[in-house]
Amino acid sequence: MPMTSVEDEPYAEIRAEIAKLCARYPNEYWRKLDAERAYPTDFVNALTEAGFLAALIPEAYGGSDLPLSAAAAILEEIQRQGCNAAACHAQMYTMGTILRHGSEAQKQEYLPKIASGDLRLQAFGVTEPTSGTDTTALRTTARRDGDRYIVNGQKIWTSRAEHSDLMLLLARTTPRDQVARKTDGLSTFIVDMRAVLGNGLTIRPIRTMMNHNSCEVFFDDMAIPADSLVGEEGKGFRYILSGMNAERILIAAECIGDAKWFIEKAAAYAGERHVFGRPIGRNQGIQFPIATAYAHMRAAELMVRQALRLYEAGANPGAEANMAKMLAADASFEAANACVQTFGGFGFAEEYDVERKFRETRLYQVAPISTNLILAYLAEHVLGMPRSY
Ligand SMILES: Cc1cc2nc3c(=O)[nH]c(=O)nc-3n(C[C@H](O)[C@H](O)[C@H](O)COP(=O)(O)OP(=O)(O)OC[C@H]3O[C@@H](n4cnc5c(N)ncnc54)[C@H](O)[C@@H]3O)c2cc1C
Repeated sequence: MPMTSVEDEPYAEIRAEIAKLCARYPNEYWRKLDAERAYPTDFVNALTEAGFLAALIPEAYGGSDLPLSAAAAILEEIQRQGCNAAACHAQMYTMGTILRHGSEAQKQEYLPKIASGDLRLQAFGVTEPTSGTDTTALRTTARRDGDRYIVNGQKIWTSRAEHSDLMLLLARTTPRDQVARKTDGLSTFIVDMRAVLGNGLTIRPIRTMMNHNSCEVFFDDMAIPADSLVGEEGKGFRYILSGMNAERILIAAECIGDAKWFIEKAAAYAGERHVFGRPIGRNQGIQFPIATAYAHMRAAELMVRQALRLYEAGANPGAEANMAKMLAADASFEAANACVQTFGGFGFAEEYDVERKFRETRLYQVAPISTNLILAYLAEHVLGMPRSY
């Protein structure tokens, strides 16, 4: 039974190919990685070889130049199949910073290699332990020294840093008290981590409730070539911001995929599991939470499609991208919760995979932006209320 309408699930061919690829990486594969907190190298390589991770890279740089909605379909379908795109999704949106703001030399240097899989751009170093959500208060500095920048500071939650060659880094190049606006004086760098690992760069993994390969990253007089700077010095914050709509829309698509996985799984189990001599799915107490989660998922899916439509029409859909992310993250977690409840005790057993997906999808209420900050954005920028922070 189709989960949703054809218009709401475009790119049927891409979805079918993703489903075929994902079938090679069944639940046992993810369960084992989860237990070992290991990186899904084979899965990421397979996606790269099939060209899916280069969907948004222009053909001139070796990609397939597809619109954002195609990338959304790819990520949604990966999640819906029970796999986890978190291992590689960042490449899709961080690459956009190089594409939009990098020099031609940087594009030539990096994009074809990212498209071919020779280089991985999976690490995105923005969050810091002391500043948290208040990005402009970050403390990592990059000081120009001849033909180099010297970087000092620390990042946290830099996902996939151990499994990436490159990192997109945000650091302060002019102290906060010397700039007119606190968003000025921040710069973006493309760091070749292979050149500095153990030589100014230290990466330390953080064990988390799900297998996300997140790390703490330390910069101790890390010297990087001056041409690592992306765009103009001091304008990095707006470069990072310019990619955030795409990031939020893509994460929202993943949440829709997760929600569909939970709903399908729950509905099927409700029909199979017999208690008191009849399927548990005959009880409205079981049916209704799943049906409610389905309705909320469909509503969130419409917001994702609307955000994509506006984005692809060249608009700057900050409100829709944020709402899509919030509604989809809520829908996926509601579906996850309904699924655990439907499975009863088995919802907690690793071999049913529900608990793993439950842990994985919980993240999206906090990262890459927390629900509170989305609500604060809507209150201020859409509804005209005073800024609350
Ligand atoms: C597994 C994982 C992977 C991540 N990957 C990356 C990555 O690859 N790169 C990267 O740069 N970052 C990454 N992050 C960081 C993530 O973006 C942040 O955790 C998130 O933005 C929240 O920041 P924080 O954890 O510092 O929370 P804090 O800023 O300390 O906030 C704590 C809580 O307070 C709330 N809060 C804070 N200020 C306000 C306010 N003004 N109004 C209302 N509520 C407020 C927040 O919503 C949150 O619930 C990752 C995080 C996790 C957990």
